[in-house]
Parts: sequence; C-alpha cells; structure tokens
Amino acid sequence: MKENSLYDTEGVIKYRLDHQHRPLPASIDIRAINAWRNLLFRLGLVGQDPARYHGLGYGNVSERLTANAHGFLITGTQTGHLATLNREHFAMVESASAKQNSIQSSGPSKPSSEALTHASVYSLLPKAQAVIHVHCPEIWRNTLALQLPHTGADIPYGTLEMAETVERLFHSGQLNKRPIFSMLGHEDGIVAFADSLATAAQIIFAELAEALTIEQNMSAG
Ligand SMILES: [Zn+2]
Repeated sequence: MKENSLYDTEGVIKYRLDHQHRPLPASIDIRAINAWRNLLFRLGLVGQDPARYHGLGYGNVSERLTANAHGFLITGTQTGHLATLNREHFAMVESASAKQNSIQSSGPSKPSSEALTHASVYSLLPKAQAVIHVHCPEIWRNTLALQLPHTGADIPYGTLEMAETVERLFHSGQLNKRPIFSMLGHEDGIVAFADSLATAAQIIFAELAEALTIEQNMSAG
C-alpha cells in the first residue's frame, strides 16, 4: 500500500511523506536500537506523558542502515508510550529532502515526526551512525550554562529554516567538538549524534549529569 500524506505530529510539523507499508527486511536487527531506546525511556527522555506536550509522544532514535548511504532505521510515530518496541514499530527512511520538506520511507510504521532532523544530521555528517532526539527539560533550560550549540528560540522545528540553521551549526565547527545541540524553538528538544548509539546516548547522559550538577549548585545558593 502506498500512501502520500501531509504529516502532522506534535501539532507543528507538516511535510510530505511518501511511505510504503511493508515488513522490515529480515536483515534488520532492532535489538540494539531497542535496548538503547529502552534506557532513554526509563529516564523519561523518550516517552509519552499526559502532562507534557499535550500528551503527544516525544523523542526518537535512529541508526544509519549502511555506512556511507543516507538511509536510516528510525523509531515509528506514536510509539512514545511503549517501553519496548517490536519490529512493527520501526520505519526505514530511504531518502529525505529538508529543502523540499519531503521524506520517502518504508516499513510497518511511519517514521517519527522528527525524521527530517535526523536526515539532516546523516547527510551533513557522513561519520554519524546514530542520532538520538530526546526531550530533556534539565539540559534544555541550561543550554547557555552548559554552552551547548543551539538553534534559536525563534526557529520552529520541522521547518526549512531549522534545517538551514542546523546546517550552519555544522559548518561553524561547534558540533565537531560537541556532537549535541539544543533546539530552543522546540520545547526541551535535544539532538545528539555519534558513530554509535552507545556513544550518542552517553553524550546525552553526560550533559544531563552536568545539568543536574548546575541545578544543585543553584538550589544550594
Ligand atoms: Zn521533539
């Protein structure tokens, strides 16, 4: 079944999705991505909560499918409430264009709403093998104190402007030292990337520990 739709999740993003519904190829192993996502879920960095973001699911994890190719495996839309995913909950993004706001994908699930941001990272940084997008209030509100690379509060996510700003961040060299950025125009939105899921997750955990340290200093007066 082929489906074309304007995609609207988190109430903000609208892009053209050309999605082919079919099972994941047998060669795709979801165990590692699922394990790392489960840790993020336990920490509330990925999830779904009636008290946050109008009850919509948040956060997503992806992994490049083949080194040097742009395609990637990503957690599916509306999976935020699940602690553990199965093969039904993933999508493969085959190609994406931030400039045209379009995604071509396949799989049993449609890709997460933030697949375009993941696609930008993979196309700008050939050595990135994994991208993690979490919602972390502690890191986000300490973006300046942590001196994190960031996109401006006036730039809504899922827009061409966001894609261009992310591109500028890459070209500025800031992300070479610190492969993580905060999206100030997307509440609590943090993106980290690395040559493996393990490293990308650890980058987030380390920044979260720093943020928690800063907040203790503040409350200690
Ligand atoms: Zn988000």
